[in-house]
Amino acid sequence: PVNPRSGEVPVVPQGISRDDFLQALEELKQELGGENVEVNDKPLRDGWYMEHPNTHDMMTILDEEEFVAGAVVYPGSTEDVVKIVKWANRWLVPVFPISMGRNLGYGGAAPRVRGSVTIDLGRRMNKILDINPQDYTCLVEPGVSFYGLYEELGKRGLREHMWVDTPDLGGGSIIGNTVDRGVGYTPYGDHWACHSGLEVVLPTGEVIRTGMGALTEGGENTWGVFPYGFGPYSDGIFSQSNFGIVTKMGMTLMPNPGGHEGFMYTFPNEEDLGPLMEIIRPLRIATILENVAQLRHVTQSIAASGLPKSKFYSGTGTIPPDLIHAAAAQTPVGDHTWAYYGMSYGPPHIRAHKLALIDSEFRKIPGCRKIDPSTLPEDEYFWSRDRIASGTPDIHELRWVNWAPNGAHIAFSPVSPIRGPDATKLFQLGKRIHERYGIDFMPAFCVGLREMHLIVEIVFDRDDAEEKGRALGCLRDMVDEAAREGYGEYRTHLVLMDQVAGTYGWNDGALGRFNERLKDALDPNGILAPGRCGIWGRRYRGRGWEM
Ligand code: FAD
Repeated sequence: PVNPRSGEVPVVPQGISRDDFLQALEELKQELGGENVEVNDKPLRDGWYMEHPNTHDMMTILDEEEFVAGAVVYPGSTEDVVKIVKWANRWLVPVFPISMGRNLGYGGAAPRVRGSVTIDLGRRMNKILDINPQDYTCLVEPGVSFYGLYEELGKRGLREHMWVDTPDLGGGSIIGNTVDRGVGYTPYGDHWACHSGLEVVLPTGEVIRTGMGALTEGGENTWGVFPYGFGPYSDGIFSQSNFGIVTKMGMTLMPNPGGHEGFMYTFPNEEDLGPLMEIIRPLRIATILENVAQLRHVTQSIAASGLPKSKFYSGTGTIPPDLIHAAAAQTPVGDHTWAYYGMSYGPPHIRAHKLALIDSEFRKIPGCRKIDPSTLPEDEYFWSRDRIASGTPDIHELRWVNWAPNGAHIAFSPVSPIRGPDATKLFQLGKRIHERYGIDFMPAFCVGLREMHLIVEIVFDRDDAEEKGRALGCLRDMVDEAAREGYGEYRTHLVLMDQVAGTYGWNDGALGRFNERLKDALDPNGILAPGRCGIWGRRYRGRGWEM
């Protein structure tokens, strides 16, 4: 849909007059070229995942005008990015960097402060600077997507040699996803752990390189193979923050393990969750379960079919469990409640050993069923998990967004130990609060290594203000109640960033104050992504911006 604007356009960020803002943009056009500075004065077009807008969040939980860009600029090089931040400091204009802006569920392309100038890095800075087949590394710019790297590996005849780890959707930026600490599903799924060295433009315009890239000469030689360099390891402050703009990043790639075999098990009862976690934990920590183990609830499996809720239920409120089970009866999940999707890697004799161990452990849950993949049709969800866990980007996962008309979604993603009582407590907490707000509960447990993220996607109608209000209320309650029990979010949507940052309040908010000190030192004018991850510069703090 194309949405007409309400209020004056372009939206001018606070603290600068409309005339000055327009004059400042004219000045920036002189520096970058007129075609690389776009004022956001047109109707807002939502598009879809592959043709997403860069001006706002197409899956917004608030009014679309709330987190909206005043303008979008397209740097073509690190030098252009330096020009933009220097310009922002001269005019005191907030800027918000995105790599590709497909951060759907967490704010999409939207800036946290209304009227910010979005720096769309990916449009022109989209080069794969290096692929090294000996070291299994690459060096990329912000506009390189998981699909882009996958295609390039194909062109260079390297796809059989090395794999790119991809999140559920392959259209995102490798840098954008990694700096937001996103995850994929091969053994290289912890993207931040797999990156190696950054080039960063600081908010005042200096350019630094971290890790081995910081060597005076010849940093490229070891950039991708050793992440730490010498001295303090500074990379961490450039992830989930607003301390710098990443313009290059080294990334490690996975050697083809010589074979792979996806597998699927189902378990009958909701109550199986606890005992199952006790089985999963030792297998996962010992890497017998080798990739991010996914345990999905049957409601999520039904939604992943891509059919809208209205196909199964025409009443109001949450879909009754018997209808979910009736729908599931037509799928491989059958009359069961949990579906486990996993992948075993290596040649057949190595896989056989691990798969036998997994099988004997999983079968300790009474009624456990192993699904034979050869019985599954081509468009069955299992095959999407199979592709993703073997380095092939995909977009099947988008289908569950169709659950609601004008489907949009927002995520609750707390971190928990892989323990039965914790999984059960979190499950009950989410279920209870969803019931309170009349929202369908679609949990999926994603087991990293020693922890798991519970990912609960709330799917809502983006044109229904009442439904959006309930979704936000549900999320806010879950964040607070989970935090009180010791479960913090691993990542969050723009709208929840202050609240989530507040839950990391040990020692009277010492970490938040430390972040503010870094912010004020690195970004004295507070121009870079104010408010991102709950970090506000001095110019904004305590002036009513937090929500
Ligand atoms: P961007 O939107 O470009 O970046 C994300 C944020 O990081 C930006 O808002 C910005 O604040 C910051 N940033 C970006 N680039 C820079 C930079 N160069 N310098 C400084 N800061 C920067 N995500 C997962 O991780 N795993 C999943 O499995 C997954 N599944 C999804 C399934 C569905 C159906 C949907 C809709 C979304 C899913 N997502 C998932 C969320 C999201 O799509 C991805 O994380 C996506 O990769 C993020 O978008 P992007 O890569 O374009 O990043």
